[in-house]
Amino acid sequence: MTELGRIYWTRQGLRWAYTVVLLWLAFSVLTALMAKGSPVGGAGIAVVADVFQGILGRAGSAAVLPGAAAAVLAVAAAVITSRDVRRRDPVRRFTSEQRREGMARAGGLCELEAGFGRRCSRPAEHGDHFYPWSKGGSTSLQNFVAACARCNRAKRAQVPSPGQQRRMERRRREYLPPSSSVRVGERQPLP
Ligand SMILES: [Zn+2]
Repeated sequence: MTELGRIYWTRQGLRWAYTVVLLWLAFSVLTALMAKGSPVGGAGIAVVADVFQGILGRAGSAAVLPGAAAAVLAVAAAVITSRDVRRRDPVRRFTSEQRREGMARAGGLCELEAGFGRRCSRPAEHGDHFYPWSKGGSTSLQNFVAACARCNRAKRAQVPSPGQQRRMERRRREYLPPSSSVRVGERQPLP
């Protein structure tokens, strides 16, 4: 698996695990709330209080395991985020020379994907970090992609998928001179 594949699938897996755990939590609490408690003797306010306490107690203990799993996942997500922050390139803006070179390399057209793996090809207006700057992407020519305003907005700060990387490198083979590198995406090392 490529480095990007590892990063992408870890994050994707974490997202799915989080969804599953939240469903598990909701399901456990709901079943605990709907379960019938043992009948309580006596009458009046005291009985109502007992019944409520029983329900709350059951819901609480049903929430312990999924709650702990959610906490573990939240810690893992926090570790990933803090490492992303430590990786951030101190320089965020591409230099005018990088922009010039990157735009010329793309022929002034958007290099991003417009469905079915095809190239967008609208006039490019932005120099975009392929691997997002906020997630540790380098401000380098290898991480530079020419993007139109629309694709730039749509892309946001998502980690690109290994498929998107592979397809862009394949497209670049068609419009880049054979002498230049088609590689796209670069990430800063952990300091
Ligand atoms: Zn575009």
